Amino acid sequence: RDTAPNSWESRADAHSLYGFTDLPSIHARGAVVLTHGEGPYVVDVHGRRYLDANSGLWNMVAGFDHPGLIAAAKAQYDRFPGYHAFFGRMSDQTVMLSEKLVEVSPFDRGRVFYTNSGSEANDTMVKILWFLHGAEGKPERRKILTRWNGYHGVTVVSASMTGKPYNSVFGLPLPGFIHLTCPHYWREGRPGESEADFTRRMAQELEDVIAREGADTIAGFFAEPVMGAGGVIPPSAGYFQAIQPILKKHGIPLIADEVITGFGRTGHVWGSQTYDFTPDAIISSKNITAGFFPMGAVILGPELADRVQAAAEAIEEFPHGFTASGHPVGCAIALKAIEVVMNEGLLDNVRALTPRFEAGLRELARNPNIGEWRGKGLMGALEAVKDKATKTPFDSKLSVSERIANTCTDLGLICRPLGQAVVLCPPFIITEAQMDEMFDKLGQALTKVFAEVA
Ligand code: PLP
Repeated sequence: RDTAPNSWESRADAHSLYGFTDLPSIHARGAVVLTHGEGPYVVDVHGRRYLDANSGLWNMVAGFDHPGLIAAAKAQYDRFPGYHAFFGRMSDQTVMLSEKLVEVSPFDRGRVFYTNSGSEANDTMVKILWFLHGAEGKPERRKILTRWNGYHGVTVVSASMTGKPYNSVFGLPLPGFIHLTCPHYWREGRPGESEADFTRRMAQELEDVIAREGADTIAGFFAEPVMGAGGVIPPSAGYFQAIQPILKKHGIPLIADEVITGFGRTGHVWGSQTYDFTPDAIISSKNITAGFFPMGAVILGPELADRVQAAAEAIEEFPHGFTASGHPVGCAIALKAIEVVMNEGLLDNVRALTPRFEAGLRELARNPNIGEWRGKGLMGALEAVKDKATKTPFDSKLSVSERIANTCTDLGLICRPLGQAVVLCPPFIITEAQMDEMFDKLGQALTKVFAEVA
């Protein structure tokens, strides 16, 4: 790293409280300070190019310089650069985006509420459920069910929903946030247990938790169709088909957190379509604007939309909103992003390249120190293990996945360490040649790091 006091790395160090950053890596290597992007590549202040196999933070699905999205943003900045959505006033773009979101949703009718982030969208959904149950005379219906390894954000409520051990340093979760077992068959399945039996066990656990807590104390169940920040974990076979009837029986809404899986990542517009279930509401963010504007959205399906609307009518308002909810520039970009993904070939490219992506993961998983490859569409992970047969992880002090990611960075590839997995989530515009580059560089990094730690 460049240690000169006026280097970009030193300047970044001087004033940053780095979030979600492995500090030993930063101390050794310095921050990567970027100036711009070119397609799926980003370029740093030294002119080095990196293929961003993370799509930024899962979200830059159209790459980093998409001309149509930039033009949509510029045009809207020229026309009407900012407004809110309070007091019955909102931009025309906001109206059009809500129409579009309901049209592309799995719902025949619905209502939309805008936020600035995925965390806020999950917070908002929790408040909607608390508001709804309170208005319906069941204010004690407040508990929220999620799963270990689920990631739902960082605000006090969405962090409480997130099932990660690091929450304890904040004294979270809040009371009433309950985490069920992560439905990861490879890691959580018991010796001799079939995948079908494992799924049945997950469903039974849900029944047991509802019986223990009391259905009348539970506000909702939130789940990512494929867990993202938990390490790209697709559910065990039949998982959603097993749990949804139980939730329905107890009147517990199923909320799909589609912040990563929404708008094409798994090969359908929604991850819930890929896994063949219809949730009661959808949480969207990230890809909704292809990462070109901070935005989140809660999309309520017909039943929740009607009940929440009735609850609001009863007190003559829904007292919630953010200054930038339904921002006109964000909405104009989102309208364009949806068109780009759905009508300009990006979703087609996800589908076309998924077999190549899976083949690349499968090939690298032949490495004796890769225990499992997993994924759906263009999101995938390779899980590093010390011993493939026993699935024994490496000593966490070895920071194996961080070392792999750092070696990739040296080679001009950005990928993300999550636990002992390395995650790939390339932009939808990636070409086959760029995918070859991605797997080639990751393969080199695996060989180097496993030789060091073996
Ligand atoms: N939900 C999921 C599934 C996510 O992956 C994320 C972020 O990665 C969030 C919610 C939180 O979104 P944000 O970082 O925009 O607050």
